[in-house]
Amino acid sequence: MDTIKKLGLLGGMSWESTVSYYQAINRGVNARLGGLHSAPLMISSVDFAHIEQLQHKGEWDKTADILIREAKHLEASGAKAILICTNTMHKVAANIEQNITIPLIHIADATGHMLRQDTVKKVGLLGTRFTMEQTFYTSRLEETFGIEVVIPNAQQRDTVHNIIYEQLCKGVICVDSRKAYIEIINALAAEDAEGIILGCTEIALLVQQNHTEVRLYDTTAIHASAAVDFALGQ
Ligand code: GLU
Repeated sequence: MDTIKKLGLLGGMSWESTVSYYQAINRGVNARLGGLHSAPLMISSVDFAHIEQLQHKGEWDKTADILIREAKHLEASGAKAILICTNTMHKVAANIEQNITIPLIHIADATGHMLRQDTVKKVGLLGTRFTMEQTFYTSRLEETFGIEVVIPNAQQRDTVHNIIYEQLCKGVICVDSRKAYIEIINALAAEDAEGIILGCTEIALLVQQNHTEVRLYDTTAIHASAAVDFALGQ
């Protein structure tokens, strides 16, 4: 079926979560079309060590240059939309959008739509320190969707951030880390967060809905589902 639109994924950030995207998008297309249908897509997978160093040095323009170059390749090769397969790198989403002519499916917009659908007014956010502390993500949810975002305290943010880079991005899953995340999720729920955004694409590798009664919003699954909607013109 050539009516499925081809997707372009900016992946490798980390590759552990790109695997989740690949699986979720293919499963999503197959769930809707059945048979042997799968998703036409291309992945441009970068070297995360380089990106991570630039992030922690605050050299976001250089990360943007890398992703712009890759997004342009994907567009030139026939992609009909771009996905940045990480919440953090949406910091440079606007720079990428300015350099391509196809749509960029924004992870915070997909998540905001889902929260609005569930009439969530106040939500907790877990992610890298960049995603939790800077405004590129939280402002979008607050200004575009009118959703109040609460984040963990400084010490908890360090815990969440360090577990992402030292464990999850390396495919390391620890029971103690899950316990730490659940405690932080419970603390945010105690501050009246009606749900928690797993605002880093690796977190669902560690924490799933069956680990807590607090409603979780897995951005990888939500973003992949928005991509499937786009690919199938729904
Ligand atoms: N994948 C993560 C995210 O969703 C963190 C890795 C990165 O810094 O891109 O934010």
